Amino acid sequence: MPPFDKNMHFTLTPEQEQIKSETLAIASKLSAKDRTSRDRESRFDADGWKMLAQAGFFDGFLPEDFGGKNWDTLTKVIALEAFGYSCRDNGLALAVSSLVWTIFPPLLTFGSDEQKKRYLPQLASGNCIAADGITEEQSGSDAMAMQTLATRRNDGYLVNGEKCYIGFAPIADLILLFAKTDPNAGSWGISAFLVDANTPGIHKSDNREKMGLRTLPMGNIAFRDCLIPHSALLGSEGLGLSLFNESMEWERSFILATQVGAMARQLDSCIAFAKKRSQFGKSISEFQSISNRIADMRVRLETCRLLLYKTASLKDQGESITLESAMTKLTLSESFVASSMDAVRIHGAQGYLSEFEVERNLRDATGGLIYAGTSDIQRNLIARLCGI
Ligand SMILES: Cc1cc2nc3c(=O)[nH]c(=O)nc-3n(C[C@H](O)[C@H](O)[C@H](O)COP(=O)(O)OP(=O)(O)OC[C@H]3O[C@@H](n4cnc5c(N)ncnc54)[C@H](O)[C@@H]3O)c2cc1C
Repeated sequence: MPPFDKNMHFTLTPEQEQIKSETLAIASKLSAKDRTSRDRESRFDADGWKMLAQAGFFDGFLPEDFGGKNWDTLTKVIALEAFGYSCRDNGLALAVSSLVWTIFPPLLTFGSDEQKKRYLPQLASGNCIAADGITEEQSGSDAMAMQTLATRRNDGYLVNGEKCYIGFAPIADLILLFAKTDPNAGSWGISAFLVDANTPGIHKSDNREKMGLRTLPMGNIAFRDCLIPHSALLGSEGLGLSLFNESMEWERSFILATQVGAMARQLDSCIAFAKKRSQFGKSISEFQSISNRIADMRVRLETCRLLLYKTASLKDQGESITLESAMTKLTLSESFVASSMDAVRIHGAQGYLSEFEVERNLRDATGGLIYAGTSDIQRNLIARLCGI
């Protein structure tokens, strides 16, 4: 029998309640007027991003030394859940999550003082957009099989290779780059770098069209004889695997926190719609097939929230979260797809038409099955931790 859990109290403190309501208020200022056209045209909400930065939203994710508010992990996920509830643009929500879970943690843990001072204020102020460059055409789930090479020379590292499916790639100012510095050392030959995206030899593709999450631009970043300074190295040479594992744990555990908020919003609107819509002379909420779907959505929301809070709480207690991290990613991603499908069914034709903003969640949710490790990879991890 796996042991059950330690002390966990999920009653929100007055401070967390305040952060939650402030976040709801900030996110409600995001423009609704061209949300569907932004999705159709794959346009990033650059004004919204600036507004969030100016409102100090990213400060909560930074320590006090860097002008931050030093929130603990549980408070961060509570804030992100509130953000996801109020922000109907899931691409923007993923952009926020990518910054705070894939860029901030490795920079804070492994960055030099100089790197932190240089990049953290720029990132938090919305003036610098960072992309996380791991995946390549031939190395997705098997990320350590990457081929991008950073060859050390006296004048810096010469980088050659190409990263694929990178969020923010077309508009990135900064790239967290993973590359091989010692091709003979396997996973231990990988290093990480913080690279100025305007360095000669870097070629950012245009946006690549995708099924969902269209408001977060995505593309490739090619490095062709690109010379970067030694000071771009994050941590030390060969640290890439540790850095990758540490970063992936944050990402896997918490990148879908905003989705829990989106699921809560989705449930509220499905309940309201079911009560309002009548067929055969009565409210469709009286049909058991509809109420069962609502019940399933509620159970999924509660399961996701508990897993998310539990994982955050364990992290704050300094416990290992390897298992919880994979279970959280798997459950949150699969649940949002299932609930989004239920939402489409409940809404009938309105669920299928883009203008009602129901179908978009289903397209956006599907991406969550793939990024930060596919569901199959999460199951592999969980099974391994079960001893098989
Ligand atoms: C919306 C989105 C945003 C992304 N953002 C970024 C980003 O910012 N930076 C970045 O570096 N990457 C990013 N990615 C890429 C993402 O990390 C990869 O797509 C992911 O790791 C899977 O790799 P792949 O697409 O090459 O699929 P593959 O690894 O080729 O997998 C194909 C299929 O095989 C299965 N499979 C593979 N290996 C195993 C195994 N061992 N056991 C069981 N099944 C297996 C997979 O589950 C999948 O079903 C993003 C992807 C998406 C969709």
